[in-house]
Amino acid sequence: MSDTPALPPLREVIARHGLTASKALGQNFLFDGQLLARIAAVPGDLTGAEVLEVGPGPGGLTRALLAAGARVTAIERDRRCIPALAELGDAYPGKLRVIEGDALEIDAPALFDGAPHIVSNLPYNVGTALLVGWLSAEWMPWWRSLTLMFQREVADRIVAAADDDAYGRLAVLAQWRSAARIAMPVHRSAFTPPPKVMSAVVHITPTTTPDGVRLATLERLTGAAFGQRRKMLRQSLKGVAGAAEAMEACGIDPTRRAETVSVAEFIALARAMA
Ligand code: SAM
Repeated sequence: MSDTPALPPLREVIARHGLTASKALGQNFLFDGQLLARIAAVPGDLTGAEVLEVGPGPGGLTRALLAAGARVTAIERDRRCIPALAELGDAYPGKLRVIEGDALEIDAPALFDGAPHIVSNLPYNVGTALLVGWLSAEWMPWWRSLTLMFQREVADRIVAAADDDAYGRLAVLAQWRSAARIAMPVHRSAFTPPPKVMSAVVHITPTTTPDGVRLATLERLTGAAFGQRRKMLRQSLKGVAGAAEAMEACGIDPTRRAETVSVAEFIALARAMA
């Protein structure tokens, strides 16, 4: 831990800079310092580590990351937040780089020499779009780990296993070459204003790509299989060249449904189709 400078309370910063939460930007802020410190601890020891934070808003999580010793690059779309973040940067000279812009448009890998941890509390639609992009990167990816707040239902879809109701394409994408877990549930009352639903922090770390498996093949398979998730595989995979032969080679019964096929079985199918 580095020395933590005295900072004004977040609510005071918000009042002084007029940062009323914007619904259009999906703004639900976190103020609880202990909760923020627990989230900042999810990636592990951040002393001297590079962190990309998307959507810092008034900077609650940013403070926790800086206090944990990280060097933070923060991308924020809401211009109103930039002066508040600049003040935080003054308290941590050389440790905070703030970039005003849309994280969906910015070439984030170009901002780093080494692989950063990514930590973020984003509106869930932006978060899901970014997550899919980060999981579809060239592997090993340009990032070291992902620590992301999602609404609980999305978090469940990311970590689900076969036969879970939440199991689908997102689970396979998040798990075929990564370890994904729910690091902590977060109650809706922790946010200002509180959203309608509960949230959870998901932690994802990359592992190695299984030999002989291409992302494009896996996506074709899961797209077709979960596109008609109630149908038997022999029906849903009819239009996927090589899938019938792959099921036979892997001993996967074509009368099964997509939701019963484990991540390991999807990997085996994609490999057999290569
Ligand atoms: N990190 C702060 C916290 O935990 O209190 C703010 C969280 S708030 C849920 C989400 C933040 O993401 C807002 O500050 C919003 O302006 C910002 N944001 C929304 N869409 C964005 C985008 N496409 N690129 C960058 N920031 C975005």
